[in-house]
Amino acid sequence: MASGGGNNRNGTHRNSLKGTTTTSTATDKPLSVNSNPSKPAFKNKSSPLTGASSGLRKSSPGSLGGGAAKDDAGVPGRVRVAVRLRPRNAEESVADADFADCVELQPELKRLKLRKNNWDTDTYEFDEVLTEFASQKRVYEVVAKPVVEGVLDGYNGTIMAYGQTGTGKTYTLGRLGEEDTANRGIMVRAMEDILAEVSPEIDSVLVSYLQLYMESLQDLLGPTNDNISIVEEPKSGDVSLPGATLVEIRDQQSFLELLRLGEAHRHAANTKLNTESSRSHALLMVHVKRTVKGREPAHSSDNGNSTSMARSLRPPLVRKGKLVVVDLAGSERIDKSGSDGHTREEAKSINLSLSALGKCINALAENSAHVPVRDSKLTRLLRDSFGGTARTSLVITVGPSPRHRGETASTIMFGQRAMKVENMLKLKEEFDYKSLARRLDIQLDKLIMEHERKQKAFEVEIERITAEAQNRISEAERNYADAVEKERLKYQKDYMESIKKLEEKWMMNQQNQGNERKMVHIAEEVAEVKKLLSKETSLRKAAEEEVDNLKSQLAQLKMSEALANSEILKLRKMVEDEVCQKEKLEGEISMLQSQLLHLSFEADETRKRLDRGGPGKVPGGLDSPVSQVRSQLKGSGNGEKASVAKLFEQVGLQKILSLLEAEDADVRIHAVKVVANLAAEETNQQKIVEAGGLKSLLMLLGSSEDETIHRVAAGAIANLAMNEKNQELIMSQGGISLLSTTASHAKDPQTLRMVAGAIANLCGNDKLQTKLRGEGGIKALLEIVKCGHPDVLAQVARGIANFAKCESRASTQGSKTGRSLLIEDGALPWIVQNANSDASPIRRHTELALCHLAQHEVNAKDMISEGALWELVRISQDCPREDIRTLAHRTLASSPDFIAGLKRLRIDY
Ligand code: ADP
Ligand code: MG
Repeated sequence: MASGGGNNRNGTHRNSLKGTTTTSTATDKPLSVNSNPSKPAFKNKSSPLTGASSGLRKSSPGSLGGGAAKDDAGVPGRVRVAVRLRPRNAEESVADADFADCVELQPELKRLKLRKNNWDTDTYEFDEVLTEFASQKRVYEVVAKPVVEGVLDGYNGTIMAYGQTGTGKTYTLGRLGEEDTANRGIMVRAMEDILAEVSPEIDSVLVSYLQLYMESLQDLLGPTNDNISIVEEPKSGDVSLPGATLVEIRDQQSFLELLRLGEAHRHAANTKLNTESSRSHALLMVHVKRTVKGREPAHSSDNGNSTSMARSLRPPLVRKGKLVVVDLAGSERIDKSGSDGHTREEAKSINLSLSALGKCINALAENSAHVPVRDSKLTRLLRDSFGGTARTSLVITVGPSPRHRGETASTIMFGQRAMKVENMLKLKEEFDYKSLARRLDIQLDKLIMEHERKQKAFEVEIERITAEAQNRISEAERNYADAVEKERLKYQKDYMESIKKLEEKWMMNQQNQGNERKMVHIAEEVAEVKKLLSKETSLRKAAEEEVDNLKSQLAQLKMSEALANSEILKLRKMVEDEVCQKEKLEGEISMLQSQLLHLSFEADETRKRLDRGGPGKVPGGLDSPVSQVRSQLKGSGNGEKASVAKLFEQVGLQKILSLLEAEDADVRIHAVKVVANLAAEETNQQKIVEAGGLKSLLMLLGSSEDETIHRVAAGAIANLAMNEKNQELIMSQGGISLLSTTASHAKDPQTLRMVAGAIANLCGNDKLQTKLRGEGGIKALLEIVKCGHPDVLAQVARGIANFAKCESRASTQGSKTGRSLLIEDGALPWIVQNANSDASPIRRHTELALCHLAQHEVNAKDMISEGALWELVRISQDCPREDIRTLAHRTLASSPDFIAGLKRLRIDY
């Protein structure tokens, strides 16, 4: 804690008339405020108490009169103490006339010398030493002004007077200066400065005035409040008096009246209590709230980027400073007060507060851990002033009379200790949210009103714009309709004109063309005539030559007539031979001629397309079934075969196939014959199928009613059906039903032979068994046999044998179970019946079929009952083919049913 005149000097640095010193080693050294580095420097004479400049708003930061503390910890600020000496009053001038004053002041050295006796003094140093001549103004400026400045800047401040009764405490603090303005005390001057600084519109100055007497706090502005409670805020340590009257001060006059009123109440109270004002403590409290203009709060984290919007929403920053001016009760000892019995208690109370204050100051001065603040109301009220956050200035008042040397010494000691008390000054700054809310409310109302006005104006504007837009739209629509009509009429007119012009042009063209045509025609005629003329000429020439030639020939003929006559006999014989040959070929030639007719027509077209030579040779021998065609081709030699191949090559398969659907029946017949011929050659089969020939042939079976076509087509299909892949195609394209229908309508056994041959080929396909049977293939074969022609029966037998063979294979592999489908469809009687046929192809196939059927036990019973057993026995013995014989034998020997059957029929086998 900084000390202005610490214990080390107090009473230890003494000047003695005898020149003796007691303790100090620095006897002759003048006391220097700068000698102790921890001691604040008081260089500025104009503000000796604080180090602040005398200008009200020029205080330097960190000093008592300085700027804002920038953190919560505050800045250190020692309690400043001034001593003021009252001039001798009239009584003293008389009573102490022969005595010197007990104090001697050295204001320039800020020292006070207290006379102990005629030759010994104690020297004390204060922050300011005010002589009996010090003016009230000067006292205000050095003691109070820095504190008042602090209050205006948001610090709490305390100005207090301590001293014996009659030494001028009230004179220093409370003089109103009504008789002489120069006498105005600190209270009046402080208020003058405050009022000069605050803005009445945004700042406020509130005052309460109280008296503390015998531990009871009385409201001097509301005398009925005679026991006001003290409320301490635990967090901030702030003390407030919620019961005290607070009067807002707007001008100096009202403040003076308030002080007068307070004084009157104090006087009344003291009269009532039968006491003097000197025995009570008077407290004036001034609450100053100021709005900080254009400044951020000290603790704001604003980084300077805030927008104006943010600024407008920021609550105003306010600083609240509280100035407490305390006129303490007299500090004199009780025995000197001249009071009666009652005042002893009273003095105790007075001294309770005062002595508590003294104890607190002692504790603070000694940095003691415990400060007994709660011992009295005065110390509770002043807890912020000593060791708190306020700036505190204490003026101790002393009188000059040596008779009161004791009180004076005690007062001086009090002041000395108070100088050691260090406060931590804190800026009382906060955001005024209430006022922000008020301001925002007003702003909001304004905005709402403005918004409503704008909304209304906007609606009116929208209506106006809508109406205008409607007008414009209807006008635009009218204009558009007019324009469209105009355009339409214009185009119509243009169009009519164009048509007219075109017609004229056309007429002109027609005329021109007519003339041209005539000219061309004449030229053509001329050319034609010329041509005829030259032809006539050449013909005439040729005729003349012929005449000459004939003439010479006639001569030759005549000459050779004799020779010729001998030859005639010879030639006659040759002619007869020729006639014979001619008759033979005539039938064939007539057919070829008709064919040639069609093919030459076709060849013409083909030639055009292929840009080739003449129609070539037309193949003959097509008017017969496949086998006949084959034999005919064989018979007519390689030349004809080659012509079919040549035709195929020249005309193209696709073209030939397309003729299958020709409208002319003859062409169709010839075409199907050619295709049948081609299908007989294995090399052509694939090409025919790929080119869609198979499909066309099947279609012909269904669509044509011509039996020749049926026969030849069925023959072609039979040839194609030799290939396994084609068999599937035939089946998938409804071949069985087409072939069955064809058979049912057939009259020619050759047709039936072709159909049966085709089905027989299909019967040899393992995969198609079920489908073939399902579509009536077997039934169709059994129908066909009705015709009785051995060639037909041979094909049927082949088909049945094929089917039986496949079925037997499937049964052996396990993919077929149950009775043979042949037996199911009733083929067995026919097989048995024909098994011993005279025609060897029929017999061979039926024998084979029986053997295959016999391979499977499931067929045995039916076979036995249908008489197949006999045939099997015969086959096993008589069949010319050894493999069939062996097969039959092995089957009979291995089948239990057959063995049983043989036994039953008593066939010895
Ligand atoms: P206190 O309040 O300490 O009891 P007062 O202020 O009432 O003392 O002073 C007592 C008397 O002394 C008053 O008449 C006052 O006018 C007078 N007095 C005090 N100080 C001075 C001074 N500095 N100059 C002139 N008169 C003074
Ligand atoms: Mg007084």
